[in-house]
Amino acid sequence: MKVLLTGGTGFIATHVLDQLLQHGHRVVTTVRSVEKGRILLDLFKGRPVSYSVVGDIAIEGAFDAAVKSDPPFDAVIHTASPFHYNVTDNKKDMIDPAVLGTTGILKAVKSFAPSVKRVVITSSLAAMNNTKHPPKVYNEEIWNEMTMEEALTTTDAQAAYRASKTFAEKAAWEFVQTQSPNFSLTVLNPPMVYGPILHHIVSLDELNTSSKRILNLIHGKPRSGPVGSPVYVDVRDLALGHVLAIEKPEAAGQRLFLTAGMATEKQMGDIIRNTFPDIAGNLRDDLVADLPPYGIDNSKSIRLLGIKYRSMVETIVDTVKSLQKLGA
Ligand code: NDP
Repeated sequence: MKVLLTGGTGFIATHVLDQLLQHGHRVVTTVRSVEKGRILLDLFKGRPVSYSVVGDIAIEGAFDAAVKSDPPFDAVIHTASPFHYNVTDNKKDMIDPAVLGTTGILKAVKSFAPSVKRVVITSSLAAMNNTKHPPKVYNEEIWNEMTMEEALTTTDAQAAYRASKTFAEKAAWEFVQTQSPNFSLTVLNPPMVYGPILHHIVSLDELNTSSKRILNLIHGKPRSGPVGSPVYVDVRDLALGHVLAIEKPEAAGQRLFLTAGMATEKQMGDIIRNTFPDIAGNLRDDLVADLPPYGIDNSKSIRLLGIKYRSMVETIVDTVKSLQKLGA
């Protein structure tokens, strides 16, 4: 297939790109600048990948040129969306790029890329996080019930991020329901994503948000806010999930919660202590061992995609090794 992948410079997207190529697909990926595109091509030298420059995805029509291609695209994977907590304006910094980026790519595909039959969007467990009616078990039926008014006024940057993912995913489902496009939609809802870092970063300060969590753990950095969710997935399993979602007919029209399970701070700390005795001394001694008061159900993703999730040990060990290579 010929695939358009948005946000190819990201932590997750670089793995998606890698696995698309491993599966024999040809890929065009969107990046924000020529410089970022060149760096990406260098990383995948000699493989069938090219890039298309798309600036801010919140701008109307941002994807209109990128979706046109010769030969035309068969599938689109939309991962680009802000995931950070440096928010000063919830709407401008978070909600607009997430929501308008999502509706923008869907509109562009519908208008200018009729050959596209499959669209996959990277949503998040954030779009499922329901604090108003906490479920006993998280599965694909569960939705974050935050209102737009709450999203616009919250001073909690993490809540603003969760809102951005919720409204973006809702907009995507609404688009396919109301616009009856020529393509089917699959939405993937991963929790915290860990694993080796493939994408280019100049320094560890630029590390993506979820990888920073493991970096902070191995540096013994005091927790600045509440304990984050222990629900996680390996980036390699998630990337494969994106590829299978465009390949498998049974994934069409589905919302899929991709998770390997739960990894508490204490469990991750124990794995690090056992495997990396040289950094064991850095670990904080107040690592949280408690599991949250809910369960998780990943059976639909296993059934429909056939994913075999990696073990927690493999994920955490490979994340730490990768961070060490980057100078952590
Ligand atoms: P990264 O920050 O590594 O990647 C984000 C990507 O989106 C980058 O390519 C970035 O471009 C691009 N992007 C962000 N904002 C804009 C914008 N306004 N205009 C154009 N491009 C933009 O994050 P991840 O790889 O971790 O996240 C990728 C996706 O996965 C996101 O949709 C995120 O919400 C979702 N996700 C991530 C999880 C995780 O734990 N990592 C968990 C659940 C979901 P640039 O590199 O130029 O900044």
